Amino acid sequence: MEAGEELGHEMRVIDYLKCHMNIATHRPSIYLGDEELKDYDAVIPRIGASHTFFGTAVVRQFEMMGVFPLNESVAISRSRDKLRSVQLLARKGVGLPVTSFAHDPKATQHLIKTCGGAPIVVKLLEGTQGVGVVLAETAKAAESVIEAFRGLNANIMAQEFIKEAGGADIRCLVVGGKVVAAMKRQGKEGEFRSNLHRGGSATVIKITPEERSTAVRAAGVMGLNVAGVDLLRSNHGPVIMEVNSSPGLEGIETATNKNVAATIIKFLETDAKEGKTKTRGKG
Ligand code: ADP
Ligand code: MG
Repeated sequence: MEAGEELGHEMRVIDYLKCHMNIATHRPSIYLGDEELKDYDAVIPRIGASHTFFGTAVVRQFEMMGVFPLNESVAISRSRDKLRSVQLLARKGVGLPVTSFAHDPKATQHLIKTCGGAPIVVKLLEGTQGVGVVLAETAKAAESVIEAFRGLNANIMAQEFIKEAGGADIRCLVVGGKVVAAMKRQGKEGEFRSNLHRGGSATVIKITPEERSTAVRAAGVMGLNVAGVDLLRSNHGPVIMEVNSSPGLEGIETATNKNVAATIIKFLETDAKEGKTKTRGKG
């Protein structure tokens, strides 16, 4: 909001959960109460993890109206599903930790084995902020964790544990195909998860050209104009953890002293053209 206003734009925050949409006509429209939302040049989706379904529907509606979204609805949906993301990234040859997934409980042993045996990381497909990411130190522990999640009908995936990352990861902020800021996040003492929400700390870091190109490619594969790409430094090069479509700005702006928000607004100034979305709400 502030960055946009400073650059001379009219900005407005809209609570997407209070919007309703009219889909059944040739003129798609969105309402906030009685007010019809129209004549907007661009929208900057900031969708909470627990509202992906409705939030992406609102973004899609704006796309159908020809309004340019900073990130498209399809790209947001892709990035919210950890399994779908790693499949898409693997298809394009982007570095990843060895990851496996199954439906059948009988496959548990096999899952653990394909990830190289214990210790392994087990994670909920739709978790966020480190919640639902578990390090199982032994094969027995891995089995119990997988069974427990299954008992709750949760979708999980198992992943090779990148021990050499030492509880740290690198967050690269990608805007319009460029890394505009990068920080290292270190988990607190004794914690393998580097999430700032779990008490991790952030410092500015200089990334390698390989890390830079991996982050840019990952954002590109997901189709995100703006993304927070998380990677780990592994023995076999940079591996992608996840690609966030609504990255927080405060932490990275503080750590790097860069005005990422202004860069995002400038991206919109050059790229936001009416109807210029790849999928126009189709995907
Ligand atoms: P969330 O969406 O909850 O942030 P992540 O997949 O990003 O879930 O995992 C949270 C953190 O846990 C990562 O930032 C990383 O520090 C650590 N982590 C996750 N998976 C692995 C792994 N396979 N090896 C090493 N550390 C991992
Ligand atoms: Mg994460």
